[in-house]
Amino acid sequence: MDDCIFCRIVRGELPSDKVLETDEVLAFKDIRPQAPVHVLLIPKKHIPSAHHVTEEDAALVGQLHLAAQRVAEQLGIAGTGYRLVTNIGTHGQQTVHHLHYHLIGGRQLQWPPG
Ligand code: 5GP
Ligand code: ZN
Repeated sequence: MDDCIFCRIVRGELPSDKVLETDEVLAFKDIRPQAPVHVLLIPKKHIPSAHHVTEEDAALVGQLHLAAQRVAEQLGIAGTGYRLVTNIGTHGQQTVHHLHYHLIGGRQLQWPPG
């Protein structure tokens, strides 16, 4: 999508601090980190949210999960654990409408969220 900021990051029109890239998936540091590790994992394909994933995206979602594992290993937080979360819509407080998982860790996290 032309005006989607994550699509613009995928196309290289906006800078990002990349931590992993494959043909289908991109992971980069969140611009406003909420923990020592805060990475966003996105499909390069524009999908508005997890609620918009279709049967044909099933393998792609699997790739996102595998990428999250790799990033957690790469950044040294696999052993201590982390959170993988995706916000959906208004009540989910989704602000960027391109599917993304937040990978958050590097400190003790609290539960439940607000
Ligand atoms: P949401 O609120 O949709 O779940 O998460 C969107 C996330 O994208 C937020 O954590 C926000 O800090 C991050 N973000 C928004 N714009 C940019 C950007 O231009 N670059 C990067 N790296 N992160 C961004
Ligand atoms: Zn997009």
